[in-house]
Amino acid sequence: MLNPLTILLVTVLSGAMAMAVLGSLWRAAIPGVGYWIAANALGIVALLAFALQGHASRWLSFVAANALLALALLLVLEGCLRFLGRRERPWVAYAGLVAVLLGVCYWTFVKPDFNARVTLVSAYHAILYAALAVLVWRGRPSHRPAYNYYFLATAAALLCVGHSSRGIMYGFGRLMQTSLLQVSPSNIAFLALGILAPPLLAIGVVMLAHDRLAERFERLANVDDLTGAVSRRAFLERGGVLLNASLRSGLPVAIAIVDIDSFKSVNDTYGHAAGDQVLAHFAAFVARELRAGDVFGRLGGEEFGVLCPVTTAADAVMLLERLRGGLTASTPVELPRGLRYTFSVGVDQWRRGESLEQLMARADRALYAAKAAGRDRVVAA
Ligand code: GH3
Ligand code: MG
Ligand code: MG
Repeated sequence: MLNPLTILLVTVLSGAMAMAVLGSLWRAAIPGVGYWIAANALGIVALLAFALQGHASRWLSFVAANALLALALLLVLEGCLRFLGRRERPWVAYAGLVAVLLGVCYWTFVKPDFNARVTLVSAYHAILYAALAVLVWRGRPSHRPAYNYYFLATAAALLCVGHSSRGIMYGFGRLMQTSLLQVSPSNIAFLALGILAPPLLAIGVVMLAHDRLAERFERLANVDDLTGAVSRRAFLERGGVLLNASLRSGLPVAIAIVDIDSFKSVNDTYGHAAGDQVLAHFAAFVARELRAGDVFGRLGGEEFGVLCPVTTAADAVMLLERLRGGLTASTPVELPRGLRYTFSVGVDQWRRGESLEQLMARADRALYAAKAAGRDRVVAA
């Protein structure tokens, strides 16, 4: 039952299943998915062409089959490049493919040599798999969980080892054979390993695509579209984490609650769209001044929160006063002519043992005092 022909046909089936699974991701418009689907289609045609050896012309079952299979792997690599946001084409790999095909033609028509062909093609596949492993391993985004990326990189590394050993065994004449469909233990073992390639690669790239989908949903849930600030929910969650860290380190944490002044009249005078522009302008203006560890969230409407680790209330007042002065001194060119706005701030510092809600309530009272005192000012609790 385990003969090379059945193995090839089983691999065709697993490639077809992989293609069906990848098809489910087509509508998500994730970069690279189109390449990966095309790669599977080419791989299937290539394997069918290999299976025709002895029945079809050598151009089809040797040269075209090898060309398509190598091209399929190249497309997997290129899909991963696109997925990782890289625009370059792997021209060196395409040039290598042409060289491999010249070698295949030479060892098929001029000086038929099965071992030389296998060695050449295996070396090429091994190099592409190594490139894929390195690309995915190193290209993993630092803000995402590593598991999916490491899975694909490890799969590619294993397939690289498989192809390398096949190339070495045939290259050094340890295995003598004359055709791909010949029934020999080593040939069957290597081809059987090859069955794993389409599902491993397909599962690996599907895992990458799913991570991208998860990232999109997390962003939808955690980031406010209009301003790019984190949502109230994410602000409270990250704030809690920040306070816990501060409990361990003993370092201060400051909070500022910021509310845009007389925002209702901005809407009434300039229209709701201009109000939206003010919100976006304000968020961009503040975000530029914050440090990497600060948490900046939209708490609702035109009210924002800023949590600054390793910062005292006095430092936070200075930061917010600097922002307030900067906004007064600047002319926001992004806004409709004549539209100026100000904001009021309540600031306080976290006290050991209290909850984020308690801290926010005190900063809120300070904000209320700033409004009562005439707006456009920063008040510490
Ligand atoms: P104060 O100085 O006391 O804060 O006065 P205010 O007018 O800023 O505050 P008020 O709470 O009276 O009004 C807030 C307004 O913000 C009312 C609401 O329609 C508007 N608003 C809330 N969310 C949005 C939004 O996403 N876009 C726009 N354009 N307006 C919004
Ligand atoms: Mg307001
Ligand atoms: Mg308000």
